[in-house]
Amino acid sequence: MAIFQLDDNQIRVISERFGLPPVNVRQIYNEYNEKINSLMAKQYLGHSIRAMEQFVYAEKGKRSFHVRCMDLPGCRVPVYIDFISYFLVCYPPDLNEMEVRMAIAHELGHLFFNTKERQNAYDEGTKEKLEAVANVFGYFLLMGRNTFYSGKEDPFQNSAWQTTMAEYERFCK
Ligand SMILES: [Zn+2]
Repeated sequence: MAIFQLDDNQIRVISERFGLPPVNVRQIYNEYNEKINSLMAKQYLGHSIRAMEQFVYAEKGKRSFHVRCMDLPGCRVPVYIDFISYFLVCYPPDLNEMEVRMAIAHELGHLFFNTKERQNAYDEGTKEKLEAVANVFGYFLLMGRNTFYSGKEDPFQNSAWQTTMAEYERFCK
């Protein structure tokens, strides 16, 4: 995520609006960039992850359950480890940002399947079927993100769902 830049004029306006000296506004801005915005650059599918955590809480009552995602040197393909109190997604350090999102989306598909009550025809199956379930669920997570941003585009020109499908299909193979 790009760090937004504030010039002196913007600092002055913010200073006046919020009634804080410009030097303080500048300090808060610098600390925000250093301590928070730098971390935001490594958040992927943040709102989906939050929703998944709430889902696990609703299904299993795990109040402090959380999802952690990290690149891992030596990791060759994305994997998950489903611990009791957290779900860890590891992915190769050389993935680009889109690939990281796709990797996390797929692994969250496994989290969904591992968590939910098994009551559908697809719930029992082979390893291939479990992967297909994770792929489809992950696709919906990615599509949710595209829909989220598609308001900025001409809705009649929007082929985001096809583009996402094609990219994700390639990634899953
Ligand atoms: Zn998988």
